[in-house]
Amino acid sequence: MDLEGRKVLVVGLARTGVAAARFLALRKARLICTDLRTPEELGDAVGLLEEAGSLLRLGGHEGEDFLKADLIVVSPGVPLTIPPLQEAQAAGVEIIGEVELAFRHITRPIIGVTGTNGKTTTVHLIASMLEEGGISHWVGGNIGRPLTEILLRPTGGKGGREPEVIVAELSSFQLETIVDFRPWIALWTNLSADHLDRYPNMETYAEAKARIFHKQTSRDFAVVPARDPWLERHKGVIPGCVLRFGTSVDEEPDVCLNEGSIVYRQPDGRTEERYETGRVRVPGKHNLENMMSALAAARLCGADPRGIQRAMDTFVGLEHRVEYVGEAKGTRFFNDSKATTVDSVVRALECFEDPVLLLAGGKDKGGSFTPLQQPVRRHVRRLFLYGAAAGRMARELGGATEIETAGGLEGALAQAWRAARPGEVILLSPACSSFDMFRDYEERGQSFKALVHKILQENGADEVRS
Ligand code: ADP
Repeated sequence: MDLEGRKVLVVGLARTGVAAARFLALRKARLICTDLRTPEELGDAVGLLEEAGSLLRLGGHEGEDFLKADLIVVSPGVPLTIPPLQEAQAAGVEIIGEVELAFRHITRPIIGVTGTNGKTTTVHLIASMLEEGGISHWVGGNIGRPLTEILLRPTGGKGGREPEVIVAELSSFQLETIVDFRPWIALWTNLSADHLDRYPNMETYAEAKARIFHKQTSRDFAVVPARDPWLERHKGVIPGCVLRFGTSVDEEPDVCLNEGSIVYRQPDGRTEERYETGRVRVPGKHNLENMMSALAAARLCGADPRGIQRAMDTFVGLEHRVEYVGEAKGTRFFNDSKATTVDSVVRALECFEDPVLLLAGGKDKGGSFTPLQQPVRRHVRRLFLYGAAAGRMARELGGATEIETAGGLEGALAQAWRAARPGEVILLSPACSSFDMFRDYEERGQSFKALVHKILQENGADEVRS
């Protein structure tokens, strides 16, 4: 795609928009960058964009910029429904997202990872399997490093070489604005209710995610769960070669569990490989699923099976995902602040045999909490609710267990600690986003851990991790 001299408008100037703009400047596009935020609110981005030679339209949008552009690049945080974008679209201006822009210039095969939960964990697993398995790679996308950054420094692979494979985490918002994006491997972790505050219904949300398969051909691969009701109902959406993974024992997908091993059947159907799960250190079936899909992707890239096994054995999990924080007086504390969906909370609860004191709440994302009824009844001795969603959660989970409400996370933790008995687990797994009280899930998780560390210190902690 030749960008030289083309009038390109970048809308939304967080890290993604800035990376896109810097790449466009490198390719000598005539650049305008716009954001509703003021220069003061944007901070450092302003200097970077000025350095790139962009004209800046800040503190609001100018309709003419949109209508006169040859190409508009939209950041994932900007809804496509804003009037200037709608008008530009009606006038026939091409509108794409940053992922599409990057794709048009990336020359390496791409592994695209999407799904409701487990994207970041799976991307990390793929990366370490490739690393240990001898395949150079570069990781970006929704994981905090925009894809266009690889184009700013194309030799970002090992030893300054161009990486062999690009691993991209992709949110549904990023997939809304792809056009020709075609990953060589599309990995779909799972699908459950999420973002129903932004999408009108589940179907629209699922359709946005399924766009990852749209441009694939029979030469590409789709790694998908063996049992995914939505994909089963929409079989036609996957044109590529399908590899199915699943932990259920009554079926034999291409990647399955058998007598303590993950069994991977190559796409040719003839050869099988076994990977031991006995040394896996992360809890939960969901993490085995993440390993299954990750290893399928890594093997398709040619990673050495011994390296893959090493990556499985050494993976200790990511911060804020059912993360062990410590133990005091026989009570163990876990931080699962990243669990903003009902399904991820279910998966966290399934990690524990011991009774759980569950801390949940925050900002409502619009989905129903009733699927938590059964798991809460089974695993949770008492539920501590806080934040904006507490009222609706209490109504929808009434009768499943004892419920206490608290003013905030600190209060909820104090109440749970008072109620805790030796052998129990205190788990923060909120089922909501954090934006009513915290900047993001990381800040929420850090606050929780700081509060737990205080409890650990005051009570002669058996173990402290940061
Ligand atoms: P994402 O990037 O999709 O948000 P993460 O790997 O960051 O996924 O995990 C988010 C939450 O989902 C965490 O609470 C984590 O424990 C949980 N989780 C991880 N893998 C899975 C999975 N395969 N299915 C359901 N929940 C999962």
